[in-house]
Amino acid sequence: MLIATDLDGTFLAGDTDARQQLYQLITNDPDITLVFVTGRGLEAVLPLLSDPAIPVPHYVIADVGATVVDGRTRQAVQPLQADIDALWPGERAVSEALQGIPGLQRQEVPQQRRCSYFCDSDAVTDDLRRIAHELNCDLLYSADRYLDFLPRGVNKGSTLRRLVHDLGVDMHQVLVAGDTLNDLSMFEQGFRGVCVGESEAALLAATADRTRVLHSRRVGCAGILEALDFFRFVDRALLLPPGSDTMAPCGKSELVIVYHRLPYEEAIDEDGTILRRPHRSPNGIIPTLLSFFADGRKGSWIAWSSAHAGDARFETHTTVDREQYPGLRCARVELSSQDVDIFYKRFSKEAFWPTLHTFWERAQFREDDWQVFLKVNRLFAERTAAEAAHGATVWLHDYNLWMVPAALRELRPDLKIAFFHHTYFPSADVFNVMPWRRDIVGSLLQCDYIGFHIPRQAENFVDVARGVAPLRVLETKNCAPRFLTYGCAVGLDEMTTAIEVHGRRIGIGAHPVGLDVGRIGRILADAQSARLMDRLRREMTGQRVILSVERLDYTKGTLEKLLAFEQLLEQNEELRQKVTLIAVCVPAASEMTIYDTLQTQIEQAVGRINGRFSRVGWTPVQFFFRPIPFAELVAYYAIADVMWITPLRDGLNLVSKEYVATQGLMQGGGVLVLSEFAGAAAELHGAILTNPHDRNDLRDKCLYALNIHRAEAESRLRELFAIVQHNDIVRWGAEFLAAVETASEPPLQTVMAA
Ligand code: UDP
Repeated sequence: MLIATDLDGTFLAGDTDARQQLYQLITNDPDITLVFVTGRGLEAVLPLLSDPAIPVPHYVIADVGATVVDGRTRQAVQPLQADIDALWPGERAVSEALQGIPGLQRQEVPQQRRCSYFCDSDAVTDDLRRIAHELNCDLLYSADRYLDFLPRGVNKGSTLRRLVHDLGVDMHQVLVAGDTLNDLSMFEQGFRGVCVGESEAALLAATADRTRVLHSRRVGCAGILEALDFFRFVDRALLLPPGSDTMAPCGKSELVIVYHRLPYEEAIDEDGTILRRPHRSPNGIIPTLLSFFADGRKGSWIAWSSAHAGDARFETHTTVDREQYPGLRCARVELSSQDVDIFYKRFSKEAFWPTLHTFWERAQFREDDWQVFLKVNRLFAERTAAEAAHGATVWLHDYNLWMVPAALRELRPDLKIAFFHHTYFPSADVFNVMPWRRDIVGSLLQCDYIGFHIPRQAENFVDVARGVAPLRVLETKNCAPRFLTYGCAVGLDEMTTAIEVHGRRIGIGAHPVGLDVGRIGRILADAQSARLMDRLRREMTGQRVILSVERLDYTKGTLEKLLAFEQLLEQNEELRQKVTLIAVCVPAASEMTIYDTLQTQIEQAVGRINGRFSRVGWTPVQFFFRPIPFAELVAYYAIADVMWITPLRDGLNLVSKEYVATQGLMQGGGVLVLSEFAGAAAELHGAILTNPHDRNDLRDKCLYALNIHRAEAESRLRELFAIVQHNDIVRWGAEFLAAVETASEPPLQTVMAA
């Protein structure tokens, strides 16, 4: 069958249950062809097409019948569209002919092949009809205020009739639905139809004698459901009120963490047994997330695993630590190693990572990979839906899981869905390069709460969302004093904290990830660390140490820093043999060939600088191209006079905080020089900020840090350490969850409410 429905007042109206039931019925029935027939212009329909809660129509008839496109490709349906185009005199001709006519106000909404005005009924005069006639246009006046000039003979009904004919659909298999007079033309084609509850009186009067038209008292989708039953289009059993049979079965977990790593490391030994051990390099986030289950709270931790994937030994559920977290279990999503490579290593790093960090020209978008990404996200959503208790909170982590909210909301409308973005989030100009931006944003807008590190990233998201759907800002908040405002490249004075899209309220927050400061304290107290620090200090006697620590990545600005260091030595002879740059650069996995060129450039720069300036007993750049175990790294933090962190773009930057924590705990006088493009710059008052895109500034700020007055260094460090100590990882987790709990209204009342 084919359902042709008006949108506002019809398909988008009705109570939540009815909407959900109709939408699910249409989504799950491949024999239903859905056609939106709307007075909106096509651009104003696009937001609905990226709302995963609303089924995607096969066709869209927009502009009161003047536009007709395929709902998926959005391409014109030909030759139907060309025939309509041929009838249209053009926007300019119509608006010029109407110039000076009193009582007409042009509607400022998207419109094509028609001109829309607001006016009172007494403005619709014979004179106006004559102008329309001369222009070869029809006049359509509805709802006592909307006036449309349309190509002659074109209306919702005429275009629908042509479409139904061209598709070869039996006209008895068509149901039309509407609520205003501009829907009348659909009912006049002889299709079965329903005027839904609260329809315009003029439409009801005009259709009163039509035996094929049902006047329902039920509003919106409920009226359509009644008509599907009344005309026997759908088996009555499918129209039962929504219940557990249409929802995925519930689990028992009150809190579900969905993260890219399991809370333990897995390895398979020679006899195929899976060994589990704590993470060797925990970043603080995992223990914090685990701590939410220390009180026995029932929960699930969802992550992928390819250990024994595709084999009968694959275990979906595992425990983490029965004593410490008695209510917590892991629910593993089974992924083949090929899917992991595409989803995690290749696609995320090649398409999303560069775009998120504003290096969109490096991005490679492959549709095949996107399909794998969708499949994997769907698996995560299904696993989550099966674990979560009714009304549970689900906390999703990072861009690898972007499409989970869309699938999860459909499976479990009752859940409170929260999302934390761990990377940078760019402005709309950059993000919109992404081919799947509407799907991604449409999915994220199914969340109840979305968190970013800093206000700038949150605001960038809001701006991106504004380009996808009509958005209302409900609440804003000053960013100071917690965050920098005008003082750095990623600062902001005011941020949005709640928005409304498609009737749903979504909380937005800035939550920079913090550190487990105690862990650094324990490392510093350890005798082995003390020995390492002594050794390093001895080896660097007489040297000022500048330290740089980062992964090999074009976002990190390593090359720019080396070039600035070269200039520093060139222009300041007195620094030679007095200053050493220790640069730690962690290589990428060997299969990531995208980093090869950068690695060569970095190695060449290091070689050149050392070749130019080295003396017996002094190498200006000590370059470590390997990861350093965290405990060892802390010793380097401890002996460094200046920490030089210069990413061109960074979501946050934990290394800068780790340096501050180390120096703070030791009551040292180390100086942090930090890129103003790192998320942490917006939070770390006291750092010396530098612009890594400007080599002179990089050089000058490094020189300033080397020459800084001891009192200023100590004062800056005190300020920095207080921030890092207070806003630690435990506070981050607790504040995020508290914000999720308070930000949203009960989800069942808000979901899909128009
Ligand atoms: N790290 C490490 N050994 C190294 C270099 C880095 O353990 O040789 C750790 C570092 O301590 C920090 C993390 O890797 O916790 C890097 O986090 P950051 O936020 O600075 O950058 P990302 O790599 O996440 O972009």
